[in-house]
Amino acid sequence: MIKTDAIIIGAGPTGLFAVHQLGIIGLKCEVIDNLDRAGGQCIELYPDKPIYDIPGIPECTGEELTKGLLKQIEPFKNNFHLNQRVEEIKQENNLWILKTNKGNIFSAPNIIIAGGVGSFEPRKLSLKDAEKFEGSQIFYSVTNKNFFKNKKISIFGGGDSALDWALELSKLNEITLIHRRNDFRGASHTLSEIKKKEKDGKITIKTPYNLKNIEASQVMTGIEIEHENGKIEGIKTDYILSFFGLIMKLGPIADWGLNITGKTIPVNTENFQTNKEGIFAIGDICTYPGKLKLILSGFHEAALAARGCFKTARPNEKYRFEFTTASKSIHDRLGLKK
Ligand SMILES: Cc1cc2nc3c(=O)[nH]c(=O)nc-3n(C[C@H](O)[C@H](O)[C@H](O)COP(=O)(O)OP(=O)(O)OC[C@H]3O[C@@H](n4cnc5c(N)ncnc54)[C@H](O)[C@@H]3O)c2cc1C
Repeated sequence: MIKTDAIIIGAGPTGLFAVHQLGIIGLKCEVIDNLDRAGGQCIELYPDKPIYDIPGIPECTGEELTKGLLKQIEPFKNNFHLNQRVEEIKQENNLWILKTNKGNIFSAPNIIIAGGVGSFEPRKLSLKDAEKFEGSQIFYSVTNKNFFKNKKISIFGGGDSALDWALELSKLNEITLIHRRNDFRGASHTLSEIKKKEKDGKITIKTPYNLKNIEASQVMTGIEIEHENGKIEGIKTDYILSFFGLIMKLGPIADWGLNITGKTIPVNTENFQTNKEGIFAIGDICTYPGKLKLILSGFHEAALAARGCFKTARPNEKYRFEFTTASKSIHDRLGLKK
C-alpha cells in the first residue's frame, strides 16, 4: 500500500499543477492516470495546437505546456502511476483507500480528482472476437516495442499513432497498415516516410478496408479484411494494433458516492471540496456557478484545493500563507541554492 498526503487522479494540466501547489506547501502526492503519459487533453487532443490564454505565456502548444508543467514539478519528485484507472475509493479510519485496475492500493487523507472529462479510453475494434485476444494478440497501445520482434503485425487506423507505430515497428517486423479510408490523416513528413517504406516492401498498405473476421483456434493466426467494394482478403497476422482514437468516459468516478451533475462534480469555491470531506475536484470535472472550462481556472482551483488538503494532512499545524519569491521554506522545497 502506498501512503501519501494526497492522491491526484488525472495527470492533465490541472493535476500537474496541483502537484506543484501541494509541493510548495510541503505535502507529498502520488499521481494516477489511465493514459501512458501525462498531459491530459493538451497532449492527447491538441499537442501541436497553440494555446493563447495561459497567463504570462503569449503562445505555447499543448505539448510545450505539458513539458513546462512537468519541469516545474521536478523538484517534488512525485511518482506517476500511468496506464491505470482508479476503480474504487473507500474510507477507512479517516483515510481514503483507493484501488486501481492494476491492483495498486493507495492510502491518503486527501484525494484530488482532476479527471477532466473522465478517463480517456481507446476506441476498440467492434468485432466481438477481438475481446478474446485483447492483451495477448490485440493491443490498443504499445507499452514495450521490444515485445514485437520478427512478427507479422496488422495495424489499423489512419492517424498519427497508426502511422508512427507502423514506421517504428517496420524496422523489425512485417507490417500491414489498414485504413477504412483512402487518405491518411498523419503529418506530411510521416506520410512520405510511409510511402518510402511501402516502395521498399517494408510496409503493405491496404485501403479502404475494414476488419471483417479473426482467424483463430486457440491463438489468432490471421485476419480477413473487407474492401469497401465487398472483396475479402486474408492476411497472416500474429498481432493486431488498433489506433481508432480515444473516447472519453466518466468511468468509475460516477460510482464513488459523489454528487454528480451531468458529468461534473459540484464543489464549493472556498477549497473545491466535494460532498465528501477530503475529496476535492478541480479542472474540467468540477462545477460551480460561473465555472469556465479553461486551464487557467484549473490552476486557481488546484491552488485552493492544495491548501484544503493541508488542513486534513497536517491537522496539528497551522497553514502559513507565503509568497514563492520570499519564502525560505518554499525555496528549500524547490531545491534552490542560497
Ligand atoms: C481542441 C481543444 C483546444 C483547447 N484549447 C484550450 C485553450 O486554448 N485554452 C484553455 O484554457 N483550454 C483549452 N482547452 C480545454 C483544456 O484542454 C481543458 O480545460 C484542460 O485540459 C482541463 O484539464 P484537466 O487537467 O482538468 O483535465 P484533462 O486534461 O481532461 O485531464 C484529465 C486526465 O484524467 C485522467 N483520468 C480521468 N479519470 C480517471 C480515472 N478514473 N483514473 C485514472 N485517470 C483518470 C484522464 O485520462 C486524463 O489524462 C482545449 C480543449 C480542446 C479539446
